[in-house]
Amino acid sequence: MVNIAGYAGNILYIDLSTGISKIEILNTELQRKFIGGWGFNNFLAKDLIKPERDPLSPENPLILGTGTLCGTLAPMSGKISLTMLLPAFADKKETHHAVATCMGGSRRFGTMLKCAGYDHVVITGRASAPCYIKIIDESVDICDASDLWGKDAYETSDILTERHMGRTGKCGQLVIGRAGENLVRWSNALLDKGASLGRGGGGALMGSKNLKGIVTIGTKGIGIADRKRFLSLVDEIYHEMKETPALRGDPRSTSFYGGGVLSKEYPREIYFKTRETGVACSCCLVPCKYSHEIKDGDFAGLRVPRLSYASVRDFGRRLRIGDYREMIKLIDVIHRFGLDRLTALKMVHFITSLYERGVISTKDTGGLKLKRGNFDAYLSLINKFANRDDIGQFAAEGWYRLSQKVGIDADADTRDGTPIVRGMDTVLDARFTGLSPGVFGEVVRPGRAQHSPQESLLPRGQDPQRDSYFPESKRSFNDIRREAERMGLTKDEMKGVFSSGDFKTGRLEKHAEDMLAVCDSLGVCAEGSGYWWPTRNLKRLAEFYSAATGLEMSPLELKKAGERARNIERLINVRAGFSRKDDKFPLPWLENTKKPVGKALLSDWFGRRLSADDLERILDEYYDERGWNIKTGIPLKKKLISLGLEGFAG
Ligand code: SF4
Repeated sequence: MVNIAGYAGNILYIDLSTGISKIEILNTELQRKFIGGWGFNNFLAKDLIKPERDPLSPENPLILGTGTLCGTLAPMSGKISLTMLLPAFADKKETHHAVATCMGGSRRFGTMLKCAGYDHVVITGRASAPCYIKIIDESVDICDASDLWGKDAYETSDILTERHMGRTGKCGQLVIGRAGENLVRWSNALLDKGASLGRGGGGALMGSKNLKGIVTIGTKGIGIADRKRFLSLVDEIYHEMKETPALRGDPRSTSFYGGGVLSKEYPREIYFKTRETGVACSCCLVPCKYSHEIKDGDFAGLRVPRLSYASVRDFGRRLRIGDYREMIKLIDVIHRFGLDRLTALKMVHFITSLYERGVISTKDTGGLKLKRGNFDAYLSLINKFANRDDIGQFAAEGWYRLSQKVGIDADADTRDGTPIVRGMDTVLDARFTGLSPGVFGEVVRPGRAQHSPQESLLPRGQDPQRDSYFPESKRSFNDIRREAERMGLTKDEMKGVFSSGDFKTGRLEKHAEDMLAVCDSLGVCAEGSGYWWPTRNLKRLAEFYSAATGLEMSPLELKKAGERARNIERLINVRAGFSRKDDKFPLPWLENTKKPVGKALLSDWFGRRLSADDLERILDEYYDERGWNIKTGIPLKKKLISLGLEGFAG
């Protein structure tokens, strides 16, 4: 079979139980049908993932995918996808788990893996002792990791880099910390010491396989079908980036600086006193993360490879940690353990509130006095999460089991709990943002709602980053229309979604998801929540795909491929037992339809109040736009046939 330019052309299968690896050549027709990365991962998942299995059983695979543009000079093309049966995403009785694909921004891993010759890697089995996988071109080795087991994720990355960096001084790594080793169900893996991968239990999945990490070096390069056309597209984007003020890396501009807009107040010092260098994915000119060094106080000299400014700001306020250096320390410890940062901080907040209300005592917390602002107690609590000590053993099992233990449902506790969908806390919260398409996406999709084309549709006037220095960067209605046009909506689709100054949230969400599927399949970043983002342009992405592969692909064909993969993802989850009954709006949002949070009742993008019936109507519209059965949320035969998925019909 002829290898297509732009692709490495191979899938690598590794069985950790037997130590045997094998290579399968990618099928040309399927490459075009599912693009690559996210899309092709889902295609592989349909046969490889058996939802009836325990997510942490040896047979359950971990499927890694590099995007089609990964390893090329295409801007922001370092995104890696990880598809799995998610340990943390389940129905309330935990009888079935969801299958989803998480994305992470790689600095080297994607390029190295692809240049080693692999578009996808499928790992099954369980090693008899701690190991790591070394992939250097054709050479695939399972190496002893007994000296790494127990080390934190950053240390492990450093050791593997030192050990394997080779002549270039570089290698890609995906590693876990102690939380993954201890099977904390919401632990992540660390990608190239710069990003997390695997929200919902990627770390635990690796830990269940005794797999401490993967290190890779590739030396082969990626072919480009039409170099001239490709490079002119690359030039065009880099030129735009340089000329666009919002993308000059100014940390005060929307979407930059660790996922948040620089606050006018707490904790501005982070930017002015601790920020060091930008941490960017491969081929990205506008790093959205920075490394930091604390210059004074108890933690002087602490260097953190990455930091979420928004987490320091938001949780510093909630936990009443007034010293930004202590918040940096807490977040650094969370990252080193390989815990999911958002979930860990929300659990700290929830457990603190239970302690303050007398629901739990020092007997449950192992002696910790969890008063707000008690930094030392918080540090110990985070250790307990990763090591499964005291209340940490229940927290490690996820929100539902923690709720059972304390006798208070975190989702129903509208004061200090958190909105939960399928077992995981939502990243975005409609009580504060309003229910724009991106936030609504949390209800219908497991595992992928943050940082996406939908986020560019976040509300005007209810921006969660209210103290932005750049209020002019907020989206107007016309911005949303333009964004929809860039996502490739046809005239008819535009008519169905937009009408005289209004749009339908559920219908627009469908198109934003399909666009996201395209970005994730190509491996390009869709992170920017600003009103403009160079790669979030369907026409441009179709040009890139065509120039890279030599397979001419129209924007509509590309979007259809994204939609096809999204339908496969849904079908896998239908097979796992999910349907409309699981696409539930979290209780805190429903409560907010009647009871204000602050002064605000739940509203849509326009700020119009929403009732519980309105929420169901939005869900109806979403299914209808998707061509799914409105009562069940299952793709209709007609839709599957139109996508060339006849084999799934009936
Ligand atoms: S903006 Fe996107 S591509 Fe650039 S560093 Fe951030 S996640 Fe990576």
